[in-house]
Amino acid sequence: MNARSRLSLDDVHDLSMRALMASGADEENAKAVTHFMWSAERDSCHSHGLFRLPGYCASLRSGKVNGKARPKLSDHAPAAIRVDGDNGFAPIGLETGRMPLVDRARQTGIAAMALTRCYHFSALWVETAAIAEHGVVAIAMTSAKPMVAPAGGTKPLFGTNPLSFAWPRHDQEPAVFDMATAAMARGEIQVAAREGHSVPEGAGIDKDGNATTDPSAILEGAQLAFGGTKGALLSLMVELMAGPLLGEPFSVEQKEIDNTDGGPAIGGEFLIAIDPVKLSGGGDPLAHAEKLFAALLAQEGTRLPGARRYSVRAKNEAYGIVIPSQLIETIEKLTKSA
Ligand code: NDP
Repeated sequence: MNARSRLSLDDVHDLSMRALMASGADEENAKAVTHFMWSAERDSCHSHGLFRLPGYCASLRSGKVNGKARPKLSDHAPAAIRVDGDNGFAPIGLETGRMPLVDRARQTGIAAMALTRCYHFSALWVETAAIAEHGVVAIAMTSAKPMVAPAGGTKPLFGTNPLSFAWPRHDQEPAVFDMATAAMARGEIQVAAREGHSVPEGAGIDKDGNATTDPSAILEGAQLAFGGTKGALLSLMVELMAGPLLGEPFSVEQKEIDNTDGGPAIGGEFLIAIDPVKLSGGGDPLAHAEKLFAALLAQEGTRLPGARRYSVRAKNEAYGIVIPSQLIETIEKLTKSA
């Protein structure tokens, strides 16, 4: 059995800061990235926690990502802002744009942000939840290198293209969902291939376009979107909104310019923020939404999105998290200078 170790959340923060700074990030950039990974570990979203740290470090060490990025905000219209990510990781750009985006939404009712020239390794909910905590509805999407076939097609064209939505609540954590538009996470297919077990039908196709449950065949062929054609169309929307709409490369173009160090390629993230009070004409849409949530929760077996994360937070804060010892060893090596 693989050995596992317990780490406090302070240890998670410390390991991440030391590894990123030894790999070439300055303190400001390391803090921004660490906050995203730390938040994922705190909420038991391990796929976007320390598991990602070696990838972040590899992209710093290969010289692909600017670990000293200073993202720049620019104004293009009353309700449209752009943040040039300065070739850095997405979190520092998101932090730069967050409050200007929220303020714009409050002034105009709705505002959009283009985060450009950044590398996106993270879960999107960390950002949409942070925006919703200011009482503003948030939507975010980003694309990645091609892995998913379009509806009816057989070759990878779209990234796993996640989409996140956060709804603010009075005196409570926001309701937040964050989901890839691929039927299955790339990482899970890779793990299945490594461990030699099959994956559910619908996860992907082989290189000849035949349905398969063999993960290695899918990695050579293409993943599929969730929900057939409808999921593939959502993925197309994400591809357009996070790419051409922002003046950024779409998935296939991202692959063409990437240095293949294993991390994501350069690209953009699209965000929308909506002030619910302005749009509803002055009522209390958040109180109204609570009636819907109550009706949903009255049905047995339901929960709000985000509730799983909130339910594990206190325990993880008190007792820490458990991760493979081998991952800690790998990270410890990365804390030595490049
Ligand atoms: P999951 O399938 O694990 O979860 C999708 C969403 O469904 C979550 O918000 C989850 O909420 C919600 N949910 C699950 N079950 C229920 C339920 N019974 N009732 C209500 N809500 C429910 O996510 P994915 O595997 O699709 O994506 C994982 C992460 O990967 C995301 O954070 C995404 O941003 C990230 N990602 C990032 C990419 C990038 O390029 N940066 C690329 C692709 C993915 P809860 O959290 O409460 O369980």
